[in-house]
Amino acid sequence: MDIYLDHAASTPVDPRVIEVMMPYFNQIYGNASGLHRQARASARALDQARQTVADILNCTPGEIVFTACGTESDNIAIRGVAWAQKLAGKGNHIITTPIEHHAVGHTIDQLCDRFGFEQTVVPVDRYGLVDPADVAAAIRPDTILISVMYANNEVGTVLPIAEIGALARERGIPFHTDAVQAAGYEPLDVQALQVDLLAVSGHKIYAPKGVGILYVRRGTPLLPPLTGGSHENNRRPGTENVPYIVGIARALELVQAEREEENRRLAALRDRLIRGVLETIPDSQLTGHPTRRLPNNASFVFAHCEADAILMHLDIAGIQAASGSACTTGMPEPSHVLTAMGLPHELALGALRLSLGRQNTEADIDRVLEILPDIIQKVRAAGP
Ligand code: PLP
Repeated sequence: MDIYLDHAASTPVDPRVIEVMMPYFNQIYGNASGLHRQARASARALDQARQTVADILNCTPGEIVFTACGTESDNIAIRGVAWAQKLAGKGNHIITTPIEHHAVGHTIDQLCDRFGFEQTVVPVDRYGLVDPADVAAAIRPDTILISVMYANNEVGTVLPIAEIGALARERGIPFHTDAVQAAGYEPLDVQALQVDLLAVSGHKIYAPKGVGILYVRRGTPLLPPLTGGSHENNRRPGTENVPYIVGIARALELVQAEREEENRRLAALRDRLIRGVLETIPDSQLTGHPTRRLPNNASFVFAHCEADAILMHLDIAGIQAASGSACTTGMPEPSHVLTAMGLPHELALGALRLSLGRQNTEADIDRVLEILPDIIQKVRAAGP
């Protein structure tokens, strides 16, 4: 039996989500912009999904934009606000962190490298935490956007979003958070978090790939990067993907309703896994914050180890996991997240992320603990 421990990369679609999506493929399929009965049925489903999401985020339905993925939500938020602010003569300075997903980091980099924006990247500590005081100190008169992720995808650290939200609000600076990893596990009340823009992705919360949500607080300056029809309150043109939107709304409803109980279950499994790994594998280290972390994330580095070799051995043993490093050129590159947290290059190359989900059990954890020490020993013995 395979053991899937890569839920931070993607989750299986919840059968309860598939069930509510099904009628919208071939029974209610009208274009939600139309005027006939089929179209109105689609529009009603869309309205209902928007209301469901708005209730969870504690905002109005008009502030919810459905998108094609988490990456698109981040792009619309960052590019949209940056362009609108610059056009309004507000400035061109963006504050962010070095541990953002590339959907955020590369978007801001492009704005800076090609379009004349400037960025201040506030540091993170060795756990991946940002100090809100560092964000406050980075604010300038021309700061037009702050973007800090809610929870990190590699190491699971949960960042102090509400504190940063409070200081952004005080200075009147739009605040964006990438909540793609947090959405399944953390509260999403945008009033309590004091965020102006928040991104969610379907496939991390047991909905399908290819659908996302962006919350945009009323009054936030935003020039939509995509142009076309007037869909989604003029913020994201394109015929609405009704089945997927119905699906992501139901998935968000389910993960948020079941969050507390499932978080307790997952955190117990995660802690058993972390304890077991650190006790049985020499030269191993937990990455990310010991307590301020997502309940499903157990991430490590192993000295004198190459991540790809660990993953290969795990895969052969039927265990699916991920590392933090990407190898695109034949030369393994350490993850930008681990490097920003101060981990030495060599150590960062031996990263392993085990991300738990609904189907995982104690037996899965025990199986990993049974075979991982041998795998690490084998990989170390084989050398680089
Ligand atoms: N942001 C974070 C933190 C993520 O982990 C991911 C996906 O890995 C994304 C954004 C991108 O989401 P999507 O795959 O829906 O484009």
